[in-house]
Amino acid sequence: MTVSLECAACADERAAGAAFCESCGRTLATGSPAGAGPRCPACGPAGAVDADGYCGTCGMLAARPRDHAEADSSPVAAAVTDRGLRHQRNEDAMWLAVRGADTDAVVCDGVSASYDPDVASAVAAEAAGRVLAAGGDDLAGRVAEAITAAGDAVAELARTDPRRAASNPACTIVAACVRGTEIGYGWVGDSRAYWVPERGDARQLTEDDSWATHAIALGVDPQSAWNDPKAHAITAWLGADAGPVRPRTDTLRPGEAGMLLLCSDGLWNYLTDPAELASTVRAAVRKAPDLIAAARTLVAFANEAGGADNITVVLVPIHP
Ligand SMILES: [Zn+2]
Ligand SMILES: [Zn+2]
Repeated sequence: MTVSLECAACADERAAGAAFCESCGRTLATGSPAGAGPRCPACGPAGAVDADGYCGTCGMLAARPRDHAEADSSPVAAAVTDRGLRHQRNEDAMWLAVRGADTDAVVCDGVSASYDPDVASAVAAEAAGRVLAAGGDDLAGRVAEAITAAGDAVAELARTDPRRAASNPACTIVAACVRGTEIGYGWVGDSRAYWVPERGDARQLTEDDSWATHAIALGVDPQSAWNDPKAHAITAWLGADAGPVRPRTDTLRPGEAGMLLLCSDGLWNYLTDPAELASTVRAAVRKAPDLIAAARTLVAFANEAGGADNITVVLVPIHP
């Protein structure tokens, strides 16, 4: 399913992961043509599918808008999020806003053990995306501010709902702000940013807040650290129980052409080798007719490899 999140009233501005256009505030369709609700596969248009994706007539689970969503701002940026093959719903969320060549992008991954992780990731991506658009010239500072706002928004969920208060909704975040050839980025948790040059290995810009990363830093052999059942346990996240949010941020001014990639662990889990990640991204871009097709190819790669988790991919080419 291709989801267009273009706002017709504001053609130069496209935002995804949000239910409104960032510049004019007009409501955007998120998964089905404007005015048409999703169809029940059994009842057709007669079946009224509710917000959870179930048909009110026969009870069958129809496709939900978040199962697969795309934001196509080719050739400037493109993003795809997908439920994968083994999870009941997509708990990843994304935000992509493009103004000319400026790009704001956010990927969040809901923590499955928490209550309403899909809500956590959605509010975090939106809160961060709004701040990225409004911030000042210091790109790393702007990203830090965006992640802090996302943390506040997720923490707020637990204050307003007793079920959420009992098991704090939580998520990871990686955010980037591209202005010209300068990239500001930051993160909390294990969603990642990579620089993929036109030649050579991918460079992981983020350092996971995870058990495995800490264990390796303390001297544990990487292979055994990643094989440990605790490997993917995150050590920092956004949520009411996370304590004060301390996003790590940095800037990058690549002196060469290449691709900024933001992704959730649903992709990088299948591409842990930096050389393989780089060649997979470059091959996807080379073979695809446009950037959104390349992002779809990477999601398909993760699904073919097993699709064990939700998958989100954002691609932003940089040409210095
Ligand atoms: Zn039905
Ligand atoms: Zn994940």
